[in-house]
Amino acid sequence: MARLDDRLDREFDPKTAKVLARALDVHTVGELLRHYPRRYEQRGELTDLASLRDGEHVTVLAQISAVTSRMMKNRRAKLTEVTVTDGRGTLTLAFFGQPWREREMKPGLHGLFAGQVSSYGRKRQLIHPDCELLGTADPGTEMAAEHAAQIIPVYPATREMASWKIAKAIGTVLDTLDMADDPLPAEVRTRHGLQSQLAAWHGIHRPVEYAEIEPARLRLKWDEAFVLQAVLAQRRRAEDALPATPRIPRRGGLLEAFDARLPFALTQGQLAAGEEITTALCREHPMHRLLQGEVGSGKTVVAVRAMLQVIDDGGQAALLAPTEVLAQQHYRSITQLLGPLARAGELDGAEHATRVALLTGSQGAKVRRAALEEVASGAAGIVIGTHTLLYHRVRLDDQIVFDDLGLAVIDEQHRFGVQQRDALRERARGSRPHVLVMTATPIPRTVAMTVYGDLDVSTLVELPAGRAPITTHVVPAADKPHYLARTWERLREEVAGGGQAYVVCPRIGAEDSAGEPAPGADTGEDTGEDTEAAGDDGTDGEYELYEEDAERPPRSVVDLMAELAGGPLAGLRMRMLHGRMPAEDKDAAMRAFADGSVDVLVATTVVEVGVDVPNATIMVIVDADRFGVSQLHQLRGRVGRGGKPGLCLLVTDSPPGSPARDRLVAVAATVDGFALSRLDLEQRREGNVLGAVQAGRKSGLKMLTLLRDEELIVQARAEAQAVVDADPRLAGQPALVSAIRALLDEEQAKFLEKA
Ligand code: ADP
Ligand code: MG
Repeated sequence: MARLDDRLDREFDPKTAKVLARALDVHTVGELLRHYPRRYEQRGELTDLASLRDGEHVTVLAQISAVTSRMMKNRRAKLTEVTVTDGRGTLTLAFFGQPWREREMKPGLHGLFAGQVSSYGRKRQLIHPDCELLGTADPGTEMAAEHAAQIIPVYPATREMASWKIAKAIGTVLDTLDMADDPLPAEVRTRHGLQSQLAAWHGIHRPVEYAEIEPARLRLKWDEAFVLQAVLAQRRRAEDALPATPRIPRRGGLLEAFDARLPFALTQGQLAAGEEITTALCREHPMHRLLQGEVGSGKTVVAVRAMLQVIDDGGQAALLAPTEVLAQQHYRSITQLLGPLARAGELDGAEHATRVALLTGSQGAKVRRAALEEVASGAAGIVIGTHTLLYHRVRLDDQIVFDDLGLAVIDEQHRFGVQQRDALRERARGSRPHVLVMTATPIPRTVAMTVYGDLDVSTLVELPAGRAPITTHVVPAADKPHYLARTWERLREEVAGGGQAYVVCPRIGAEDSAGEPAPGADTGEDTGEDTEAAGDDGTDGEYELYEEDAERPPRSVVDLMAELAGGPLAGLRMRMLHGRMPAEDKDAAMRAFADGSVDVLVATTVVEVGVDVPNATIMVIVDADRFGVSQLHQLRGRVGRGGKPGLCLLVTDSPPGSPARDRLVAVAATVDGFALSRLDLEQRREGNVLGAVQAGRKSGLKMLTLLRDEELIVQARAEAQAVVDADPRLAGQPALVSAIRALLDEEQAKFLEKA
């Protein structure tokens, strides 16, 4: 009898188990069963051959209409061409040197054919496809048992493992499946009208009628949502039980002095979030809070105030940014905001003043050692660095140890999970720090619930008063070339009027297109090197570019810089900024732009998050169609941060009516980040979203779609919470416990792979 957590080599011969592992990355019975059909074919209803695209790996159900063989020119081999049809179009199956195919492939037979689509002249073809003949068109004749069914599941297949082979393997385990108990408690199933898990496995993999598929799918979605929410509920409970040092606000401390010096009034949202955080910091258990707010909503000030509350009660605070550019900028702006409050030990330092330490991977050993010492001694109340400093031992002799880390603020983080939190605890001696995660990518409710399910959320909805609006226009460079010329003119006007400009494009330089990372460049934030993300595809940052319909490679910073400086922007003071520059150069470029000695910064998405130069009033995004919706929204948030209105121009070659163009029109039409993040989520594959949001997890969600299944996720969360509250260790739920273990194993494996 097969059990869900049995390894596949117990069910199959070693060779089959190995192929399954290699081809599908499935290792247990449960994982194999969670390899769900992509779609179903109805016996007799043939695949629409007109829908096939070159390059696709496909499995088609079609009828053989003709078979011909001939000798190849200049070759000894015989070419057998089998024409198959869906009743309208045709597809050619080509076999070289397999003359026996002619005997096997009888016109009139139906079959499943799997392979990669290519074109030969005007004909679509599959070369050496995998074939599975289904007998004749009339039912009842010599058909293999597994083809007797009317509904044929079509699985995501690979070269090594055709769809029907997967079906066969799944059939084998289904036949012997032993399901003593169910991870979903019976009451929950009854309340929500859900079938048993065993019924669902059968319904999804071997439906006899179409009507069986939907209930099975619903039940399996519940599994995903419920098991994940049970994990999160347990984590919340465990975190709530941990001790943390309460940090009580103090009269006459740094926080009061800071508020008194602030050059502006806090917004209602900043005050409200501040209160929530103050209260949480006073508790004896660690805070885990997500602070989300539009770009420019002023999250940094909220964070600084929280940090000062902690310092006032004797603790230290760390502020961690995703890039060095941003860490350095935070360092500059926070020391400036604090003024004498950050100059302890200096002549003009205020009473009770603290110090701010900056730690980056690129600083010299001496500077770094001095900073580390200020951190270890407690002299520095605020420590600013990059995310990587947290969970990587940059150099062994170089570990950060805090004297008394009370609060960690993680800025612009899209992937902050439990592992990072554990790393944080290692850095702090003794009790757990409070944690505040900040993001400007507004997260739809279900994503927040699923990905950040164990965080509380504060939201800044309004922008500070007096913020001038950002106007966005699409510049169709291909159909209206004079618009592009006008764009550069407009940029010159902005500079002439005292403003500054960003020009952003997708790639770094021409030489990076080979896909070979430049020496020293790393591939993401999760590496030990403390330089920031420069992807091996020559982009900066964590998003994939949109490549659909792309007819040429995207523009690069290096090329564009040369082109603009020698042409439409000649005479302006320009600098480049991208992830592959040495850290000092990046910092110098950013500083020069911030102090106004540069008019135009030509950059990759390194300027995407958090960069704050209030005098920048215009941003031109070249090849804007290559970016995702949220990313464009993030990018344009860099302008209009001072008193002057911001202008964002999205330059594109995409034709009117194309999906890419529509995406840009949508971005231009609204500045509502929540609306845009929903749109973004709809456009991306779920896996990408979760992958970008947090390492791991993606394996846990196969059926569930975070947007469409919102209602289900909310219900599953409530049910899971109730089960965990009643039985925190889940002693009475053995099947749920093993489902949780399977999910965590996968998550852990994925995390380790990344690290
Ligand atoms: P984000 O939320 O995008 O990180 P920042 O914290 O960088 O935004 O704030 C953007 C700018 O707004 C900064 O220059 C900051 O000093 C300023 N700012 C913050 N709060 C206010 C406020 N209440 N009134 C006016 N300006 C503010
Ligand atoms: Mg910010």
